[in-house]
Amino acid sequence: MRASKMLISTLKEAPNEAKIASHVLLLRAGMIKNEVAGVYNYLPLGLRVLNKIENIIREEMDEAGGIEILCSALQPKELWEESGRWSKYGPELMRFTDRHEREFCLGPTHEEVFTSMARDLIKSAKSLPMNLYQIQTKYRDEVRPRFGLMRGREFVMQDAYTFDKNPEGLEASYKNMYDTYSRIFTRLGLHYQIVLADTGNIGGNGSHQFMAISDIGESAIVYCSECGYAADVEKAEVQKAVESTADLKALEKVNTPNQRTIEEISSFLGVDPKNTAKSIIYHDYVNNKFVMAVVRGDREVNEIKLVNACSSNENYLELATPEEIISLGSIHGFCGPKGINGVDIYIDDEVLAMHNVVIGANEKDYHYVNANFGRDFNGTVCDLKTAVEGDLCPCCGKPMKQHRGIEVGQIFKLQTKYSEPMKCYYVDENGKNVPMVMGCYGIGVTRTLQSIVEQYHDDFGIKWPLNVAPYHAVVVPINYNDEAQRAMAEKLYAILRENKIEVILDDRNAKPGFKFKDWELIGIPYMVVCGKKASEGICEFKDRATLEKVEMTIEEAANKIIEAVRSI
Ligand code: ATP
Ligand code: MG
Repeated sequence: MRASKMLISTLKEAPNEAKIASHVLLLRAGMIKNEVAGVYNYLPLGLRVLNKIENIIREEMDEAGGIEILCSALQPKELWEESGRWSKYGPELMRFTDRHEREFCLGPTHEEVFTSMARDLIKSAKSLPMNLYQIQTKYRDEVRPRFGLMRGREFVMQDAYTFDKNPEGLEASYKNMYDTYSRIFTRLGLHYQIVLADTGNIGGNGSHQFMAISDIGESAIVYCSECGYAADVEKAEVQKAVESTADLKALEKVNTPNQRTIEEISSFLGVDPKNTAKSIIYHDYVNNKFVMAVVRGDREVNEIKLVNACSSNENYLELATPEEIISLGSIHGFCGPKGINGVDIYIDDEVLAMHNVVIGANEKDYHYVNANFGRDFNGTVCDLKTAVEGDLCPCCGKPMKQHRGIEVGQIFKLQTKYSEPMKCYYVDENGKNVPMVMGCYGIGVTRTLQSIVEQYHDDFGIKWPLNVAPYHAVVVPINYNDEAQRAMAEKLYAILRENKIEVILDDRNAKPGFKFKDWELIGIPYMVVCGKKASEGICEFKDRATLEKVEMTIEEAANKIIEAVRSI
């Protein structure tokens, strides 16, 4: 491709809203263009990268036995009513009504569509297991679309769905997809970690996420470098606390004027925050109830665990307002699990192991000291805490670490969560209708694209890995009007094209510094500069990843590039 004919739209500065390097660079390199919040257009260079990522996913999916289809983004309400998710999904679902007053949504995911596809089209049990997938545009009305392609309202996802006869079959399909996704992310050059995950809105039991390691990631990963345990913080467990051996003391109600926070109350009473309990009241709009979560004072409530415990939905669980707390006979800052009515109480298992705890007395300026579970207060015991660095590993007991990651993919064992209500059956050998056992799998393709940039860039721009780079190489004559330089550049360009190298010839009438900056920003892996030594047949070969520059003949440069591309 000749640069003069390309739509190159590099920018000196990124718009203000771009806060992270990968977003800045994708905009500055002219890979994407923003329309409205969370919606992007893919410009030619960005689209080439996107296509390459999609092709790697396709190759690996096809190799793993996947069958590609393409579904509409438009989905009728009726399908979502069959699964029960029309009412449950929440405001992220982009809903609309057509001119005939029929309701639709733009698919945020396609479990319903694929389940109905399998129900209608898989005629014989002999076809099972089956693995269907697509690469398609998804819509989610995210509360805070941000960081460019990382959290869009429209994004490309590869989603796959497996259909098996029984749970053992699902295990094998799940393992196959776990391995396939691992191969995909490895080929894409991502530094990633596979972690245990919560199943969220999708449902089912058993799930893993693929996390691109990055400080700007929205997900926190808790992991043990000793035994390999790794989990999203939403899911992460910690070793069970050992019950305190302290003697139980008599319960006492004490005056704690204006001491509302754990810090205030523990310094006022001179107790370790680890001997206090924090009681947080939520309004659960799914079940129309109030729930109280009680965790150790220095802990944070893990709202995902709470949602699971009370069978609610994260979009429908909100902190109770001060007025609501008063209506329950308590008061903000002094809530506690003793003597409160009208709330379902959930107690973290760690609190169970504590003796002589400080809790709120549900009365302004009063707390209880020496409260003990079972004797003074009760509730449903479950795991409600957010794990933090230093917590002990639930598998081997060693202290765990924490870092951040970008969720680029997730896989779920759905079991019969959708096939049962949607009557997606196969007929077994006894002629009986049996629900298919399903798994579902998703890669955020556009989020992955940006994650690669997040991991592969420097101060000058993007450093695309060769197999996803928009072009493999660029040939830059310092002065295109110089005969020797132009002749050399054209010759190299021709050799590379003959060898199926994706190459750009920078025939633009511009200063060399300007051209170099463009290609460094765009991140073309190899740049060959034809300059002063062109008449001697010598060019300069620059490697974008290492910034190394070496002089060589154009034949040598061509061979280096051809070899590198062949070894992808
Ligand atoms: P998140 O927790 O980040 O909102 P999710 O768990 O809801 O994502 P899934 O339903 O698991 O997302 O979707 C599969 C993949 O699609 C995710 O692993 C992620 O890579 C990608 N993805 C999800 N939401 C978005 C979004 N708003 N923009 C871009 N990619 C997304
Ligand atoms: Mg997910």
